[in-house]
Amino acid sequence: MTGSRRAPGSAGLAGLLVVLLGTLAPFAVPASAVAADFPKGWEGYHTYAEMATEVAAVAAAHPDIVQRFSIGKTYQGRNMWAVKISDNVGVDENEPEVLFDGLTHSDEHMGLEMTLRIMHWLVDGYVSHDARITNIVNTREIWIVLAVNPDGAEADIAGGHFHFWRKNRQPTPGTTAIGTDLNRNFGYRWGIAEGRTSKNPLAITYMGPKAFSAPETRNMRDFLASRVVNGRQQIRTAITFHESGRLVMWPYGYTYANIPLDMTVDDHNALVIIGRHMAATNGYRPEQASDLYLTSGTTRDYEYGTYRIFSYTFEMSVKDYPDDSLIASETGRNKEAVLYLIERASCPLAVLGAAVRTARCGAFDDDLEVSRGWVVNADHTDTGSGATWQRGDPAPTTYAGVRMQPDTVPSGRSAFITGLAAGTSSSANDVDGGRTSVTSPTIDLPATAGQKLQFRWTFAHDARATSADELRVEVLDAGNGNAATSVLVVPGTPVVRSAGWRTTSIDLSAWAGKTIRVRFSATDAGVNGVVEAGFDDVRVTQPQ
Ligand SMILES: [Zn+2]
Repeated sequence: MTGSRRAPGSAGLAGLLVVLLGTLAPFAVPASAVAADFPKGWEGYHTYAEMATEVAAVAAAHPDIVQRFSIGKTYQGRNMWAVKISDNVGVDENEPEVLFDGLTHSDEHMGLEMTLRIMHWLVDGYVSHDARITNIVNTREIWIVLAVNPDGAEADIAGGHFHFWRKNRQPTPGTTAIGTDLNRNFGYRWGIAEGRTSKNPLAITYMGPKAFSAPETRNMRDFLASRVVNGRQQIRTAITFHESGRLVMWPYGYTYANIPLDMTVDDHNALVIIGRHMAATNGYRPEQASDLYLTSGTTRDYEYGTYRIFSYTFEMSVKDYPDDSLIASETGRNKEAVLYLIERASCPLAVLGAAVRTARCGAFDDDLEVSRGWVVNADHTDTGSGATWQRGDPAPTTYAGVRMQPDTVPSGRSAFITGLAAGTSSSANDVDGGRTSVTSPTIDLPATAGQKLQFRWTFAHDARATSADELRVEVLDAGNGNAATSVLVVPGTPVVRSAGWRTTSIDLSAWAGKTIRVRFSATDAGVNGVVEAGFDDVRVTQPQ
């Protein structure tokens, strides 16, 4: 819910300022309100107590597929209730995961009705043997954080009328102001006070004194971090439910750029296709978040920027405070979109077609844009004294007029590079005195022949190189003491070899059904010359 949507079009700048500074104190909100119920005409909405009771009842009635837990306490000490829904719900199975949350802005009560409705769709559909929902529950792990800002929601309905209360209830130190806009407080690109994001503690879009200053956003951050297993974020798709405007919005909100450096072309294309598909099912308008207005520190930007979760913001309803007669229709219109996004979680990029699906929906896919569990010097056997593998954006270097460290990477912004920095000479921040290695997390290969390990690589050196210098790629058999098989060795030769991205594809049929790791090593073993290596876009393809 936003000030401008509430303000009449004729209000002008003065009216907008009044609304944006609406937390100055025009509404007397008790510091710790316990709401009896919503105002008349809205009683169909759930208070915090009603929500807590309902979630507990559903979990108690369906312990085989529903697990209730709290992701932590709010500023005022309320539990932030959440559920996990899946078959074998007590086991962390290797299934794609999905996250839904609602009521981050506490005057957007339809968001809680939406998360409750999703819980009921999944439970009721499973109980009644609905084939599609049974398949979803059996093959996914679905997390629902019912209400991110229950303190604010209780304050918003205190005294039996609405208070237009959007933020949490945390005082801002050093001021008399109450509340941080939780959807401006997440720690990705936090602090860009442009568009609808404010540094003013009195503003309804106040970002907070620092990222994750609010207990509610810290709890969300810590919950998301808890879903990193084996170095990899398990949650693949997400929706955060807001109100109003009937919009489906994809990242980013912090910039007008469609594909900034912290997004890949493939991700953008898939985000748009999935977003437009969902919008076609619920009648919303699909757009990039910044098409509405610039925002920074949002849930959606954090989830995508940090973890590459395909995360969407839904703005529900066509007006603020829709009465409870609209709950069924406004939540119901999102059923197909919700189920569709859950189904996409196994590999969102599959919507880009058969070729991309084969390449990127296999047992492993890492564009190296975010941390996904690679470990430098995993065995503590590296001998190098110079630069080690680093993931990031390389600074270009040249030697004798020849490019040694590349300026660009094959996808997005980041690759693994031996020393990202350029340094003061071309041989600074390169491999010296031996080997540096980096090892992937474990990869469970299906027992099917025809899978391929594919990756992009670059290897450059000066004319002092010998065959003792090399780039080496090995497949490690994790079930056999990490027994190593070299699948690519590029030895040095006594000429200047320039950087350049090449592609290699290795048949993995010998490892079908096994658990493997992949190790990249770069070695400067002779005279300490210039040795620069890199790799990107490591994949195990589907069988082909
Ligand atoms: Zn909102």
